[in-house]
Amino acid sequence: MTITAGVVAVQGDVAEHVAAVERAGASLGQEVRVEEVRTAGVAPDCDALLMPGGESTTISRTIHREGIADEIREHAAAGKPILATCAGLIVCSRDARDDRVEELGLVDVAVERNAFGRQKDSFEAALDVTGLDSPFPAVFIRAPAIDEVGADAEVLATVQDRPVAVRDGPIVGTSFHPELTDDSRIHDLALFEPLAADA
Ligand code: GLN
Repeated sequence: MTITAGVVAVQGDVAEHVAAVERAGASLGQEVRVEEVRTAGVAPDCDALLMPGGESTTISRTIHREGIADEIREHAAAGKPILATCAGLIVCSRDARDDRVEELGLVDVAVERNAFGRQKDSFEAALDVTGLDSPFPAVFIRAPAIDEVGADAEVLATVQDRPVAVRDGPIVGTSFHPELTDDSRIHDLALFEPLAADA
């Protein structure tokens, strides 16, 4: 069966996400068709969704204006997997602690935008992630930290004692950018394993 993966493509590192999910599928021998979600009507046909990094203010405003926000909520309510990275996680959170972000409230966490300080705007870390048997090469770019973890969310990884990866039901959110490395294990964990279990 071919999996249809939708990359929410209103702003941010869309091309990297498209390439990464194609690479992840290829490494697993799984056929993937990628759709870019720019308007309403595309997400409902997707088995999995990816929410890229970028600017959470712009992304959240645009998905609400275009009617994509409700379709993402319906996708999650149907138990279909979502991988949300960096700004994507901020948009999916319960509370972005910033009035300019219209959160989707899908991941039971509060986040702090740009939490890792100016001199550390970008950094890499070898991250222990629950469910992976060796460290994941994580790239952080003006990354948010997860401040408060509600009862529905499970912490999957931490940096400097701050959570940077969580799962809440069908959604995995990361402060870092798994789409920027060749390592497909986060895609597998977040998207392909749940879809295979469901098939
Ligand atoms: N700093 C951005 C924000 O708060 C997120 C950065 C990113 O997605 N790489 O929206």
